[in-house]
Amino acid sequence: MHIFAIANQKGGVGKTTTAVNLAAALAAQGQRTLLVDLDPQGNATMGSGIDKRGLKRSVYQLLLQLATLTQTRATSPSGKFDVLPANRDLAGAEVELVALEQREVRLKNALAPHKDDYDFVLIDCPPSLSMLTLNGLCAAHGVIIPMQCEYYALEGLSDLVNTIKKVHANLNRELKIIGLLRVMFDPRSTLSNQVSAQLEQHFGEKVFKTIVPRNVRLAEAPSYGVPGVLFDKGAKGAQAYLAFAIEMIERVKNWKE
Ligand code: ADP
Ligand code: MG
Repeated sequence: MHIFAIANQKGGVGKTTTAVNLAAALAAQGQRTLLVDLDPQGNATMGSGIDKRGLKRSVYQLLLQLATLTQTRATSPSGKFDVLPANRDLAGAEVELVALEQREVRLKNALAPHKDDYDFVLIDCPPSLSMLTLNGLCAAHGVIIPMQCEYYALEGLSDLVNTIKKVHANLNRELKIIGLLRVMFDPRSTLSNQVSAQLEQHFGEKVFKTIVPRNVRLAEAPSYGVPGVLFDKGAKGAQAYLAFAIEMIERVKNWKE
């Protein structure tokens, strides 16, 4: 089981789109996949076709140990992957966890008994470096960082890299950056191409080969509750996420668990 957190403390950079579409694309490749929604906005939940308003149990109950993973998980109706769903309740966990034991490793502990159930676990983190994100980073083996190739992208990246280093040093020796994923890419923009080249120079192998273009079909899909890769399989964005799933499967092939 490979556990990856999809993180970037900036909002609107494509974390949730990446989490949902990579989950669906991995499932389409026959990988047993679990998507964990760690954002109280519940966008990954809705984007997977699960109504966040009608949840009996959510990641909130899971983190507070009021429910088990088996009691919490749902299956995406279109996507053939499992989801640990979230809604606004999860915002409360942030405060309630502070006073509790082992507060950073609640998600890690909840996943541990299921290590043989899934090939991939993807964790959609909220846009902050909060207790929720910390739970994501403590549970994960690696971080996937989606980013837009714009002027300030590199600046924000150093904060995230420092946080990952701290978590690695103090809480999770396994944690590493798996890679940077260029998303919402506009190949006609000179700036995008410059930043993209800078990223490759700076981070080398850590930059994924796949580039996800800006594609309106990916943005439309969530309102139908269907992952973009299934909503319009032929669209450029869907094709990119399918290619990304194959790149990820190749990357992990030679790793030890
Ligand atoms: P985050 O989870 O980091 O806040 P989202 O995945 O929710 O970011 O993306 C922010 C917005 O950008 C959403 O409206 C989403 O539909 C849109 N979006 C994400 N990726 C793409 C893309 N490749 N092309 C077009 N729109 C995109
Ligand atoms: Mg999001």
